[in-house]
Amino acid sequence: MSWLDDLDDDEPEFDEADVRVRPNPKANRPRTKRRPAHDDARVARVLGVDRGRYTVLIDEDGPDEHDAVAMRARELRKTPVVTGDRVRVVGDTSGAPGTLARIVGIERRTSLLRRSADDTDLVERIIVANADQMLIVVAAADPEPRTRLVDRYLVAALDAGIRPLLVVTKTDLADPAAFLHHFDGLDLEVFTSAHNDMPLERIGGAIAGHATVFVGHSGVGKSTLVNALVPEARRATGHVNVVTGRGRHTSSSTVSLRYVGPRGRGWVIDTPGVRSFGLGHIDPTNILRSFTDLAEIAKECPRGCTHLPDAPDCTLVEAHEEGRLDVSAEARLDSLQRLLTTFAGLDEHR
Ligand code: GDP
Ligand code: ZN
Repeated sequence: MSWLDDLDDDEPEFDEADVRVRPNPKANRPRTKRRPAHDDARVARVLGVDRGRYTVLIDEDGPDEHDAVAMRARELRKTPVVTGDRVRVVGDTSGAPGTLARIVGIERRTSLLRRSADDTDLVERIIVANADQMLIVVAAADPEPRTRLVDRYLVAALDAGIRPLLVVTKTDLADPAAFLHHFDGLDLEVFTSAHNDMPLERIGGAIAGHATVFVGHSGVGKSTLVNALVPEARRATGHVNVVTGRGRHTSSSTVSLRYVGPRGRGWVIDTPGVRSFGLGHIDPTNILRSFTDLAEIAKECPRGCTHLPDAPDCTLVEAHEEGRLDVSAEARLDSLQRLLTTFAGLDEHR
C-alpha cells in the first residue's frame, strides 16, 4: 500500500477548508488561527510537475492567459497535485521570471488515473487528473501488440469513467486486423496509422474539446504521434538515447500539451511509456457499467457475481448458454469477461 491508495475517485474535493477543520490529535495548539480566505485566488491548470515546481496555466482561454511557476502551500499538506489538476493559486501569479505562486487548493476532480506502485522502472508515479479520454497507442509490429496490455489500459480507463480510444501505429509494417479482432465487442473508436500516413485530422477531431491522456509502451510511436499533433511539443522520439538530464526529464514526466486543430482545441496529456495504471483498486462494477446492454441483464445477477463463465446463477452466463444473446452481445460478453479476468487475475497476484 502507498499513499496513492488513499486517493479515491469519489473522494470529496480537497480544499483548504477541509484541511483546516481536520482535527490533528497530535497538535495541542489552539485552533483559533484562521488561514487567509484566499479570495484573490485564481484558478489555474497544472501542466506539469518537476521536482516540486508546478507549471500552471492561469486564465485559460481568457485575455490574460499565461504560464506561471508555483509551489504547493503548506496547508495542502500531503495532498497530491498532479498534471491536469485545476488548482487555486495565490501570491505572485504574474509568471514573470523568478516569481513563484502558491497553490492553496484543488478544485473537484472529474476523474483520476493512478499508476500502480509496483512498477519499479520509473521513479515518478504517474497520475493524471480530469482526463475524459484515454488514447491507447499500440504498434502493429515492433514492438508486437499484446492484447493483454491493451486490456489493462481499457480496464483502467473504464474504471475511471474515461472513454478509451485506440490507435494502432506502424500498419506499414504489419496488418493489424487479427489483433483488432479482439476488440470487436467493445465500443472502441480505432484509428490506424502508418509511416507518412497518420490520420491526424481524424484523431484531431476525436481529441478536440477533450482532455486526452496518451498511453503506450515505449517504442510504439507515441511521441511521433504527439509531435505530429502538437508540433511545438518536441517530445523526444526514437529509442532511449537521451544524453542530457534535461532531455531525459522531457520524456519521463507527464505533461499537458495544448492541441490546436481545425476541429477545435483540446489537451494532449502525454505520459512516459508505462505498462499500467494502478489496477489494484479497480471496481468491477465500473467496468460492467460501460457495457450498458449487458449491465441491464446483469441487474438480476446474485450479489457479488463475477459474471465469469463459472459464476453460479449469473444471468449473463445463462442468457449466453440459452442462446438469448445476439451476435454482437455475444462478442461484448466475451470482451467483458476478458476484461473482468484481467482484473481477477491481478487480484490473485496482489
Ligand atoms: P515512443 O517510444 O512510443 O514515443 O515511440 P517513438 O515515437 O519514439 O517511435 C519509436 C520508433 O518507431 C521511431 O524510430 C519512429 O520513427 C518509429 N515509428 C513511429 N511511427 C511509425 C510508423 O507508423 N511506422 C514505422 N515503420 N515506424 C514508426
Ligand atoms: Zn453475473
